[in-house]
Amino acid sequence: MTPPAVAGTTFERLELSLKSAFTISRGTTEAVETVVVRIEDDSETVGIGGAAPSAYYGESADSVESVVPDLLDTIEGENPTRLQTHEQRLRECAPDDAAARTAVSIALHDLVAKASEEPLYQRLGLAPERAPATSYTVAIDSPAGMASRAQQIRQSGYPILKVKLGSDDDRARIDAIRTVAPRARIRVDANGDWTVEEAIEKVGWLANAGVEFVEQPVPGDDIAGLQEVSEETVLPIAADESCVTAADVPTVADAADIVVVKLMKCGGIRPAISQIETARAHGLEVMVGCMVESNASIAAACHIAPLVEYADLDGSLLCSDDPYTGVPMPEGQIDLSAVGRGTGVERAVDS
Ligand SMILES: [Mg+2]
Repeated sequence: MTPPAVAGTTFERLELSLKSAFTISRGTTEAVETVVVRIEDDSETVGIGGAAPSAYYGESADSVESVVPDLLDTIEGENPTRLQTHEQRLRECAPDDAAARTAVSIALHDLVAKASEEPLYQRLGLAPERAPATSYTVAIDSPAGMASRAQQIRQSGYPILKVKLGSDDDRARIDAIRTVAPRARIRVDANGDWTVEEAIEKVGWLANAGVEFVEQPVPGDDIAGLQEVSEETVLPIAADESCVTAADVPTVADAADIVVVKLMKCGGIRPAISQIETARAHGLEVMVGCMVESNASIAAACHIAPLVEYADLDGSLLCSDDPYTGVPMPEGQIDLSAVGRGTGVERAVDS
């Protein structure tokens, strides 16, 4: 039997509007840009994958568009099922362009799973019912604005809130949210905004407010500070900006309890699984997270969610005009059983 071959590739750049302005401690976003790659084999099966570049990690839609043609050249005419080889070549071709590599990695995995008529989680040998429920993000706003948002999210059935903090009003914000959501599971993400002293004080009262864990309390490069916060507080601490790839896991192993793995940070499906397994080997828990992203990339993250304890995959729920549909998440439950083949991504709207 002749092996399959990549017969054609294309990509498109899209701007996605957000349902409302999204503020974290680093700044406000009103729209995000994504680059979506399509890879077709010689049986006309098409794999789709998106890049969600982040300026924080040195990427942009421009940088993705400039490197994607070279990445796609590495697979042209090749057997798409040789994923190990392809991901190695992608890394060699663009070592600093993780989001761009991720788009190609996802599209290849989608293509290969579709061609074998299985959902991606099955191709990876994972148990779909083990995917944890996703949190839903409450971005920074006034205390009253955040409380109102938290109430809407809870009324929509989402069980877990992820609250962005990083300002002088942090305590008023959590108190306001707790007033309207007294029993909700709440996680907090400071995106590196606090000093060590501030973090120790704030994590103290966040524990009293029943928060489950705190993500990135101090700047990403302050590993000693992260460790001090972990040692001086009772809540689990999650490392996001401090742990970009599997190679960073040993560095944070004594400074955090949870590693946040994102496809866009580490550069693809296999690098993400490697980071998850490395975290496991160091006795850490794992949350799979995302940027504000299209379903064209979030869907793939859903398929590795069975490997982790926590999920934060609401990125596409924050977009108002994502032309792609992906894995359904009714009331935050990642429903992988709804996926027939591939990642489940379809282009829903022609725009
Ligand atoms: Mg984070």
